[in-house]
Amino acid sequence: MAGGVRRGADQGDVARLQTDDPSGPQAPVVASWEGRILAVGPRDDVERELEGGGYPLARFARLDARGGAVTPGLIDPHTHLLFAGTREGELILRQQGASYLDILSAGGGILSTVAATRAATEDDLLAHGRRWADEMVAHGVTTIEAKSGYGLDLETEVRLVEVAYRLGLEGPLDIVPTWLGAHAVPPEFRGRPGGVEAYVRSVIDDQLPGIAAHGRARFADVFCESGVFSADQSRRVLQAALGFGLFPRLHADELAPSGGAELAAEIGAASADHLATPSAAGIAAMAEAAESGNPVVATLLPVTTWFLMKDHHAPARAFIDAGVPVAIGTDFNPGTSPTASLPLAMSFACINLGLSPDEALAAVTINAARALLLEDEIGSLESGKAADLVIWRVPTTTQIPYWPGADLARTVIKRGKVVHDGPDR
Ligand SMILES: [Zn+2]
Repeated sequence: MAGGVRRGADQGDVARLQTDDPSGPQAPVVASWEGRILAVGPRDDVERELEGGGYPLARFARLDARGGAVTPGLIDPHTHLLFAGTREGELILRQQGASYLDILSAGGGILSTVAATRAATEDDLLAHGRRWADEMVAHGVTTIEAKSGYGLDLETEVRLVEVAYRLGLEGPLDIVPTWLGAHAVPPEFRGRPGGVEAYVRSVIDDQLPGIAAHGRARFADVFCESGVFSADQSRRVLQAALGFGLFPRLHADELAPSGGAELAAEIGAASADHLATPSAAGIAAMAEAAESGNPVVATLLPVTTWFLMKDHHAPARAFIDAGVPVAIGTDFNPGTSPTASLPLAMSFACINLGLSPDEALAAVTINAARALLLEDEIGSLESGKAADLVIWRVPTTTQIPYWPGADLARTVIKRGKVVHDGPDR
């Protein structure tokens, strides 16, 4: 897969290398050295290139894909990795007809996770994070974004960002921490006049400077949604965050058109996420940003829509037709998407959003890398990039979304090292 972000008619251009003779001189190989990709291409060409560069061929350990497809390590650009407690009761409430905002306004939803997370220790959160990070790696994921947002006070938000950062240092999964202080209005600000606005002020004046001083968060995110934070409040939080060097991204137009896509384009966010109900003006604004060479990635989260039992899906084809690069994430979280499987999200992207398997593959590799502003480092198999690869149990990448929920990642390589090696099946 060569060359940057995929959008428009090129969203599904995965630049595949194939051969009929996997042991022959034309068999595609990836060569890496000290964690970086040196060369990709037919074996003969790569070996010649390495010898010409003075690399000792005999010192390269060889790993045979044994007929399995090989892709870049998958990148999950939207997770809420760290939380405490579970919310299986809401599944039953939804079956009885309750909506997301019904459950939230009754004190459930995010607020129950906030109470459990505030009570959790750093060790609790580390253990939880390790358990799910391991599962992500086992599904072929080598980099994720992880949001805070279940603390909603400075102390707990810093703890969440710190745990995400430490889990990333521990590896093998690389973790990009995002501060999501404006995820919901916490109980202590609810039910009082002007409570939402008072919380927005405390996010900007108290949380943000503390998070910035802590120095671990790379992005700032806001839940921009009718009934949560308005586009105006979201703009104020994200602009203030930018002033502290935290790059903007946002939860936009998930449940109703709320001006989120327009805001993302206006402030040059790295990504606008969910986008199940963007306005036509919002899609047009994101198309214009993409055309100008500074795209806002549309990060779509189809598992969430399914888990919330909604039949209205993000207009993925409209984004692709408008030339907006599309990424796919799990939205891993305890309320609305309790899955750590990015390949499963690829299945939903194909079934419910109408992406082709190749478009879905670009959406979880190079475009997901761009959504994290890491497209020069990861997301494709090109010389100079990190040697993050997956060897799949299936012979073609088309089969990855074709087997929903299956355990397909056989061998996962992070910076040149095998970090997950499952059995043949
Ligand atoms: Zn989210």
